[in-house]
Amino acid sequence: MIIACFDGMTENIFNNIIEYLPNHQVLLNDSNYKHSILYNENLPHTVPSWIQIFSGKTYKDTGIYDFEKRNRDGSRLNEYVKRKDLQGIEFIWDKSNQNRFIVYNLWICIPPLRINCHYPLIWTQWDVLKKNGEEFIFELCSEINSYKWCIDTLLKMRCEVLIWHCLFPDQIHHAFSYEEKYNKPISDKFIKAYKAVDFLLGKMIKQNDDVVIVSDHGDCGAAFEEIGLVEPICAHNRDGFIASNFLSELPSNHSEMYLMFEKYLMKEKIKRRN
Ligand SMILES: [Zn+2]
Repeated sequence: MIIACFDGMTENIFNNIIEYLPNHQVLLNDSNYKHSILYNENLPHTVPSWIQIFSGKTYKDTGIYDFEKRNRDGSRLNEYVKRKDLQGIEFIWDKSNQNRFIVYNLWICIPPLRINCHYPLIWTQWDVLKKNGEEFIFELCSEINSYKWCIDTLLKMRCEVLIWHCLFPDQIHHAFSYEEKYNKPISDKFIKAYKAVDFLLGKMIKQNDDVVIVSDHGDCGAAFEEIGLVEPICAHNRDGFIASNFLSELPSNHSEMYLMFEKYLMKEKIKRRN
């Protein structure tokens, strides 16, 4: 099973430029795929959302609200969540034989979490929210070949479950949300950035495997007053996205998503025993 995590992927946003995105079109129109909103019933921030999807635990259970740690009163600590902060949480790969999994760059800590995966970290910068659209698109396009190489290699490795995370859609929304918010004519840069995401999506859906494409939250395109010039406010909303070529029924929220994974792994275990 391939679980391709496209952070912040939002149907309302990619639908605006769907004619440029052949692989996104497959998710919406191909009869092999079902798609739907995946509702974020807890906190539409990246870190607690993925933690809930892969462990069943909410931010209330873990005390982890975002990339940045906070005091009990909500004030910022200026310290990021590290891998050691996740130690008390039992993830789906801890509950099963860990050899069955590869987890590639899941952004639930900094640097992002990886299990059974020793490829170089492609995205080394953590200042994307301070970049403007121009700088961001330059960096994204220059990284795309390394991503391509990385996906090809990961897919060749034998594992039962590949969990692969891509932060690009969320980053694009933060970098270009001025256009989304004010309905300005969509720029060539925004389209170019999304085409890069579409290319990576194509890599995933062209595999002869069970595929789930999933996002942690949606985006309402209001992160910045001006592109990259002021502090971001939360642009996320609760309407994430899910598509799959094998699930007979799609989960509708994060708790159901976790239960679906558990069920799938249990079923595979039984299949192997027989
Ligand atoms: Zn996110």
